[in-house]
Amino acid sequence: MTRNLATPPMCHETSEAVLISAFDRLLRSDHANKERKGCPGISTLKRLAFDPKLFRDKEILSHLGYCGACVDELAKLRKGQVSRRRVG
Ligand SMILES: [Zn+2]
Repeated sequence: MTRNLATPPMCHETSEAVLISAFDRLLRSDHANKERKGCPGISTLKRLAFDPKLFRDKEILSHLGYCGACVDELAKLRKGQVSRRRVG
């Protein structure tokens, strides 16, 4: 039995879907944004990681679309909070 590690949401675009597509693009190109231009900051990323429902700011979403640094941080934050209580 084989199962994908990632289970993308089917119903609508969520932060998860945005992250996945952002990651996919980042893996193909170099959007590292090492200078962290326009980054919302770690505190915002933490909020997003712990409560994706806050994930409504289109500016942040589009930022994550090209900022590898933020996507990477957000992914790490999300990994770190897996064992916490479920949100939603
Ligand atoms: Zn950023």
